[in-house]
Amino acid sequence: MTNDPTAKTLAELGVSDAAGVARLFDDLKVRFRVELARAADEGDWRAVLRDWQGPGSALRSRVIANWTRGGSDTLCDRVRRENEGLIGFVNLRLGVMLSLEEAGLNNAEVVGPRFATLENSFDREIEDCNDEADLNRTKLAWTSRNSGLLTRISSNWLRPAPPGVKRTVGQAFNRLKGHIEQALESRRAEIEVAAEQTALTRERKDLSLPGVVRPLGSRHPLRQTFEEIERIFLSLGYSVVAGPEMETPYYNFEALNIPEHHPARDNMDTFYMAAPFAQGAQGKPGAAPLLLRTHTSPMQVRAMEKQQPPVRIIVPGKVYRRDNPDATHGFMFHQIEGLAVDTDITFCDFKGTVEYFVREFLGPGVKTRLRPSYFPFTEPSVEVDATCVFCGGKGCNVCKQSGWIELFGAGMVDPAVYGFVNYDAARYSGFAFGLGVERLTQLKYNINDLQLYFQNDVRFLRQFA
Ligand SMILES: [Zn+2]
Repeated sequence: MTNDPTAKTLAELGVSDAAGVARLFDDLKVRFRVELARAADEGDWRAVLRDWQGPGSALRSRVIANWTRGGSDTLCDRVRRENEGLIGFVNLRLGVMLSLEEAGLNNAEVVGPRFATLENSFDREIEDCNDEADLNRTKLAWTSRNSGLLTRISSNWLRPAPPGVKRTVGQAFNRLKGHIEQALESRRAEIEVAAEQTALTRERKDLSLPGVVRPLGSRHPLRQTFEEIERIFLSLGYSVVAGPEMETPYYNFEALNIPEHHPARDNMDTFYMAAPFAQGAQGKPGAAPLLLRTHTSPMQVRAMEKQQPPVRIIVPGKVYRRDNPDATHGFMFHQIEGLAVDTDITFCDFKGTVEYFVREFLGPGVKTRLRPSYFPFTEPSVEVDATCVFCGGKGCNVCKQSGWIELFGAGMVDPAVYGFVNYDAARYSGFAFGLGVERLTQLKYNINDLQLYFQNDVRFLRQFA
């Protein structure tokens, strides 16, 4: 057998340490078990006896001769020790294959010592068991129904025993069997306890270790502005409503008095949803495409469609324009739309509300002024300016020496809009405004680049924590 490891030296096998030697002997034990089981099945187990136990067998000569050649003293010692173990292993298993007479058990006096030897061998094996796997291997070797040692003893010794010794052999067998079962049980319990303790030691918490510091996030500056503006208007009796970011051209333009081809659509160029998504969204093929709203104003119309005056709402949200990102432009930004409609709402109510808001938001010393402007859905329309928060109105770089800064657009609701929502324009009046959240945040904190809001740079964001 050219592949037989017992025909080679340790150096040829590439084995240079004790663990390697132990592995070689483990392999030999497996090989022995396989050969014995096969030979027993074939009814000629004695062939194995000749190979493994007789003089000149692999066991007696080849292993010692080859595996101690050229190795270190320690390694040779290890080979000899392992070899003793292998001899015991082989003898034990071959011993129980002998017939009652061959084993000398027809003499009742031999029975006791013979079984005591078996019990000793078992005790040594179970002492070597260090984990569940070892234990299962030992259990299988002794108690397996097919080829376990107890089965061999039972069929080779107990069953054929003549009446004279049957009782003695039977008692000894039962005692051994009981001992084995009980020892397996208690060893298993010991191993479980040991494993548990190992796990406990491994998992023990070291309370002296420093904790894990998880940085707390903070609210985004735009979010803070949203919340502050919402707080101011909630205190005035307004409610907060949200509208869809995907709008129909009708709500985004037409109902706000911006018909097709109106020049105001030029600076509100936006993103249109391609069919069939847009068609599906509206439920029927051929429907007008949807767009991303260019302002929060569409919600004015939606709110007025749903309820009769009085209406006092603010609409915070995202809006979209087809602008390239730079310090003052973005394709997405935030607005808060405001709308108040009731009987007897005058320009004075409008101006008072605007002044109150500006003082609450920028500080009590800030003054406001209104400049005429134009929006399709308000008439009259104004731009609301405030005294420069950086120089207090004296003039600086931010306000271009004028002392005033532009805040937002607003105005009285154009009566034409009421026509779209079936309000009686003769009876109701109101005002609307559109606050740019980025713009107001910029003024409050002197931020000079719109893009900073969206770059998620913690060095920037941390300043608002
Ligand atoms: Zn200034």
